[in-house]
Amino acid sequence: MKIHAIQTGFVRIKTAQVEGRGVGLRRRLAVFTDSHWTEWLPTYAWVVEHPEGVIVVDTGQGTHLLQTATSLHPYMRWEVRFRIAPDQELGPQLRALGIAPHDVTRVVLTHLHIDHDGGLAHFPRSEILVSRGELQAASGWIGRMRGYLPNRWPSWFNPVSLDLAPEAYGPFAASKRLTSAGDVVAVATPGHTAHHVSVLVENQGITYFLAGDTSYTQRLMLAGHVDGVCIDETVARATLGAIRHLAVDRPTVYLPTHDPESAARLANRSLVKQNGSEGSGGPERF
Ligand SMILES: [Zn+2]
Repeated sequence: MKIHAIQTGFVRIKTAQVEGRGVGLRRRLAVFTDSHWTEWLPTYAWVVEHPEGVIVVDTGQGTHLLQTATSLHPYMRWEVRFRIAPDQELGPQLRALGIAPHDVTRVVLTHLHIDHDGGLAHFPRSEILVSRGELQAASGWIGRMRGYLPNRWPSWFNPVSLDLAPEAYGPFAASKRLTSAGDVVAVATPGHTAHHVSVLVENQGITYFLAGDTSYTQRLMLAGHVDGVCIDETVARATLGAIRHLAVDRPTVYLPTHDPESAARLANRSLVKQNGSEGSGGPERF
């Protein structure tokens, strides 16, 4: 089994989105009043070459996101900037790895934010898995008002519902095995969105935690610090605690979508360490 980190361009957001300030509505408004931008951050998609077939987790950015600068939606117009060239989309990068997009058996989306579903058009023949609640939240005009882009989904987009079972997987309350071998598992990681999922890949004694946007960096996960746009602060904080709990129980490589360190962490198999300089003082227990 091999896992690839594929960078699909860059994104810049406000620093108050990465690290939430204040609580409740104040926290969410802070994203709009903050005048400080992050550096250009990577947007990763993940490709798992598995004996049962190629699995893609998140599809990254598409060049259509360059048009958000003229969007009528206030978040897209004022609070986010993208950089991506056509050959940085996931389809061309897969081909460069020798993987034809139609060889991808399954695409799993952690959530449907615009920088995670932007490469869907490359996968018309793959089974696409999205949690039912996330699809509902992102659909239609309500979804557009929430900042999703359902109008950019391919016309054939009709994902299979990723219904997690109330079956605990380590500290996570709900899960679903995605391979017969049981070594690729979706777990519920709510908070950033209400139905956000993460994908865990078990390989040679290490758990690779494909985290989506559970946090923007490993440091913020260890600190238990929620972001500026998450739907529910308490739930998001509990999810970060569950991730720390998992990382105590088993060797874990934590891979958020926008963490500039994610690719190096994957390449070096750098495990989450909770007693070093980044330590949080220990995991929360449930
Ligand atoms: Zn997101």
